[in-house]
Amino acid sequence: MRSELASERIAARGAGYPTVRMRRLRRSEPLRSMVRETELRPSDLIYPMFVSEGREPRRPVPSMPGVCQLSVEEALRDAEAVLSCGVPAVLLFGIPEAKDELGSQAYAEDGIVQRAVRALKGRFPELVVITDVCMCEYTSHGHCGVLRGDEVDNDRSLELHALTALSHARAGADVVAPSGMMDGVVGAIRSLLDAEGFEQISILAYAAKYASGFYGPFRDAAGSAPAFGDRRQYQMDPANGREALREVALDVAEGADMIMVKPALAYLDVISRVRQEFDLPLVAYNVSGEYSMVKAATQQGWLDERRTVLELLTAMRRAGADLVITYHALDAARWLIRAEGA
Ligand SMILES: [Zn+2]
Repeated sequence: MRSELASERIAARGAGYPTVRMRRLRRSEPLRSMVRETELRPSDLIYPMFVSEGREPRRPVPSMPGVCQLSVEEALRDAEAVLSCGVPAVLLFGIPEAKDELGSQAYAEDGIVQRAVRALKGRFPELVVITDVCMCEYTSHGHCGVLRGDEVDNDRSLELHALTALSHARAGADVVAPSGMMDGVVGAIRSLLDAEGFEQISILAYAAKYASGFYGPFRDAAGSAPAFGDRRQYQMDPANGREALREVALDVAEGADMIMVKPALAYLDVISRVRQEFDLPLVAYNVSGEYSMVKAATQQGWLDERRTVLELLTAMRRAGADLVITYHALDAARWLIRAEGA
């Protein structure tokens, strides 16, 4: 059997042009769509939202055209739009009014994310609500945990990350997503959730999160730029691919239900390698800088937005992502629905 297949391959290669003509299957859209290998559907997308305690209900983020910081009321409005175009899930980030050394608003029962989760799940029980679990939007120093000197103290931070996840679960979150790249955070969250009766709540681990220049606009949106230094002590070096596989393996061993690679565009090779090694649902985060690059170029008329966005999201799926978190989710879903109806 084996040798037969091999000989067929040789025959196919031997045939070549003019017997083989690859263009035959590209001649019309029905043909092209029949042999299309990768599908992109609204249900593959997750829409990130910034919920804010600020007074303005809808505050545009200048470096991310089309993205706003939202009051809880406005978040409800957007969530309705999300569901109506077939996107099943949102990822919530919180922007608190007050910050402190220990990021106490991150795990406050009446914190902004906790209130938003309650409101969203109350109004739209079918919406999958994923919460970002980190401290950097809540700490006065803007780092992802408790400081000891100028360094984030990994082990002391774990408890606060776990408490944050627990408070999100209590508010009704379906999935918690630790993003701080603290060693052991997935295990710490899993054991606290289980001990408190939330064994059904899933964990989406930001397993391979790189220290990336593409997060710039997000920090505008979330007000989470570190007050000093950067996050290279805990986020991954962009030069490393093999290390991503170790990071993912550890999070899987600690109980992650889904794994993430972030950013997406400059890390398609990492997505592909993780896909080959692991069977868990794999999520790619099409981050703020990737979004803003496309927006800036399309505003100049240099790129066709619809075509570029759908091509990029399809590439992330082709590389191996099951799901893509993207600020383009609403636009992309509408384009996909329209194409389907046409
Ligand atoms: Zn963080």
